Amino acid sequence: MDWQIMLKLTFLGGAREVGRAAVHLKDERRGLVLDYGVLLNEQPHFPAYVSPREYDAIVLTHPHLDHSGDAPSLYTTSKKPILGTTLTFEIFRVLIRDELKISRGNLNFGRKEVKKLLRNIVTVNYGAENKVGRWSFYLFSSGHIPGSSYVLVNVGGKRVMYTSDINTINTRLVRGAVIRDVKPDALIIESTYADTDHPPRKELEKEFVVKVLETLADGGVALIPAFSVSRAQEILMILEHFGVTRKYPVYVDGMARIITRIFQDYIDYIAEQGLFLDALKHSKFINDPRMRLKALKEPSVVISPAGMLQGGPVYEYLPYLLDKEESSVFFVGYQIEGTPGRRLLEQKIIELGDKTIRPSLRIEKFDFSSHAGKTQLLEIIEKVKKEDMYVFVVHGEEKKAIGFAEEVSSTFGVNALAPVNGDTFTV
Ligand SMILES: [Zn+2]
Ligand SMILES: [Zn+2]
Repeated sequence: MDWQIMLKLTFLGGAREVGRAAVHLKDERRGLVLDYGVLLNEQPHFPAYVSPREYDAIVLTHPHLDHSGDAPSLYTTSKKPILGTTLTFEIFRVLIRDELKISRGNLNFGRKEVKKLLRNIVTVNYGAENKVGRWSFYLFSSGHIPGSSYVLVNVGGKRVMYTSDINTINTRLVRGAVIRDVKPDALIIESTYADTDHPPRKELEKEFVVKVLETLADGGVALIPAFSVSRAQEILMILEHFGVTRKYPVYVDGMARIITRIFQDYIDYIAEQGLFLDALKHSKFINDPRMRLKALKEPSVVISPAGMLQGGPVYEYLPYLLDKEESSVFFVGYQIEGTPGRRLLEQKIIELGDKTIRPSLRIEKFDFSSHAGKTQLLEIIEKVKKEDMYVFVVHGEEKKAIGFAEEVSSTFGVNALAPVNGDTFTV
């Protein structure tokens, strides 16, 4: 057998939780950091510290803050290269500045570190080999959002595959990930939806549009809290596809506008490009508070962050719609435990200032996930698996991560487990 190194994997964050994703890979000398995110709850939570002596580069799989939101803190003392796709960094610039603005000094870094990080960006292309020291790695589209990546790392005869956030089904916005026959020694796989299968996308789209049209026909406002990155644009494309944008005003507010413009500049990353451009033509970007008043006065669709109601311009609409039975709030994304969105969805209550309100508007959720469901996750493992492979299940609520690890062990006869934060394994 070929000589092989001992490769150490440490889960710095994102184990048995959704947030602060960060993995440290290390051989005898150096290492790589894969993602370095933040968990934004009432208080931000960060990954464990990793000394700059212990890595040569950082790989950013995508700009969602749960993967990137603490990366600037790595630049207090170091200036290591940070690698990712061009589009990832374009969006990262916007999201990280927003994080700085809203966090009011609660972070481990400031403007200075963000600037330093931005000076150390190395953009990479899908499928191309990247080398740092004796580490070699590849990024491939993960189908999660435009520009997102899964990572394949080779070092000293060992292979690691990190799915990050991954989706293998096609959506109108982004094509599903193509999984390579990797045979890694260690697979680090997400488990956001490891216990569920999503409804078929096309059926879900129709169901969603029917509900939106019902609200509009009743004279109501369909308020869609949506993540600025990706979900807002996909919803816009669905409304365009079914002709809603040509019959009713469809408004886009907040940072979703900025991200939509960036996608327009990087149209190559978009799956149905013509549909995307048509959707832009037929929708209205809010650029004046008076437009918001207008939107509230007519049957309309409003797409606005924040997707889990943690703030943002969605509050320019929601308070005025709470007692309107003809209006609706349609959730179209994952609602993390502890967020106002999750409370409104499950307990039917919302806190505004010091008041707790039981609204009379309709509340529904549509499972437009950008994460693989259980079947797809198992298919990924089936595709890449090799004997004696380790499978580390991360990026999922505790029960899901543990349950999925058990299922993977029994289905494939591999060593699957759900690590906890701080765990180190040698493969
Ligand atoms: Zn993500
Ligand atoms: Zn994530």
